[in-house]
Amino acid sequence: MIDNLKQIFSFLDNSSNANDIRAVLEEVFPISAIYIYDSTTESLRDFSKNWLFIKSKEIDDVFEKLKSEKYVKGKTKSYYALYNNEQTIGMLEFSEHLHSKLLEFLELAIFCISLKIQNIILSERMQKNIDFHDSMKNIAKIIETQYEINYIVPIIGEMIDKFVSDHLVYIFVNNELVWPSACNDAKIFELIKCLNNKSEYILTPDKKIGLFPLISENKLLGCIVTKSTDNVLSEKEIEYLEQLSSQAATTINRANVYAEILKHATLDALTGFYNRRQLEERIKQEISSAKRQKRNLCAIMIDIDFFKSVNDTYGHAAGDLVLKTVSKIIKSQLRDYDIAGRYGGEEFLILLPYTKIDEAKMVAERLRSAVENKKIDISKICPDKKDISVTISLGVSQYQNDNNFVTNADKALYQAKESGRNRVV
Ligand code: GH3
Ligand code: MG
Ligand code: MG
Repeated sequence: MIDNLKQIFSFLDNSSNANDIRAVLEEVFPISAIYIYDSTTESLRDFSKNWLFIKSKEIDDVFEKLKSEKYVKGKTKSYYALYNNEQTIGMLEFSEHLHSKLLEFLELAIFCISLKIQNIILSERMQKNIDFHDSMKNIAKIIETQYEINYIVPIIGEMIDKFVSDHLVYIFVNNELVWPSACNDAKIFELIKCLNNKSEYILTPDKKIGLFPLISENKLLGCIVTKSTDNVLSEKEIEYLEQLSSQAATTINRANVYAEILKHATLDALTGFYNRRQLEERIKQEISSAKRQKRNLCAIMIDIDFFKSVNDTYGHAAGDLVLKTVSKIIKSQLRDYDIAGRYGGEEFLILLPYTKIDEAKMVAERLRSAVENKKIDISKICPDKKDISVTISLGVSQYQNDNNFVTNADKALYQAKESGRNRVV
């Protein structure tokens, strides 16, 4: 039990946050809340409950009274004003009326209590500034070193989340939620549709939802959304979020550009498979790890049958659609770690790690039958024709510690063609 002023002063001295202060006061007073007036939102907030907004006419009225009186008694509760330079900045709420001895004690201690609370508020604000500058510095660092959008977005999300910790934070890219994994507020999905590449930030009339567009080089890339159930964003937070979203937009824009460049350098535009150059690289890699780890590796070489006649009959565009469709079928039949590449015009090479020749033959047979059974709708290109179908021939080989791995698959393919097409050799 704290029983003298000196003791309460020394306890207050050692407290560094709202909870500490409350604990010290609870030792002496029947304290039930500490309210502080927040001038940016023009409302009282509960200092000891993470700055919770107080919406109570009764409490507002008490606060008005405390501007001219020190102590106000309610029906059961009572209130004492907190000061700064003779101005009332908030109040202590007690669960009962204070007896005279305690009031006398409070009279003497209130200056010290007010001062300590102000110091804590000030250092909280400073910490927030420091956190913000750290966030900005981190984003700048990511801009310089990271290009992977899947890596960048969660970092940005977590940083903003930390910064406005009393709000939920969502990041949208191209109208799709990318961070965190779920958002069950349909209103947010509606709101983001209102943004364009000239938009400034938007606050809903109740100020609970904030939308900060991600705009870089005149392109709207997405937006950062903050949502709160009780707190509203302060002007300072809005200013920070605007800066953060501008930085984030630059980062995301760069990642997008980089992804696009990377895709063109490694993937075939029509099929989305590895292009020939990249495929050669992957063949080398797979052979070397199969050798090193002594594991099985198979190849399937595929060529579309009579493809020339598809082009000749229905035109090159229809031919392209057939190629795309066949590549989709191939993709759908493969495992995640299988590798598919466009070897030539209408030839594909598939590498199957961890696979023996019998299994590879089964995969090839599955592919053959899936392509044969697929009806390809080319009516968008040739209005008078609806479905066509094609077949493929496939050659399978297993890696056997020699240099003929791919050549063997090619030879097998040739045999499949020779012996009638639409088959696996
Ligand atoms: P088969 O393989 O059964 O012996 O007969 P084929 O008619 O398919 O003969 P081949 O493999 O020699 O023909 C390949 C044709 O594929 C020739 C070329 O015009 C066409 N082709 C190659 N690349 C593309 C492409 O990207 N788009 C389209 N539409 N056609 C392509
Ligand atoms: Mg062919
Ligand atoms: Mg060919």
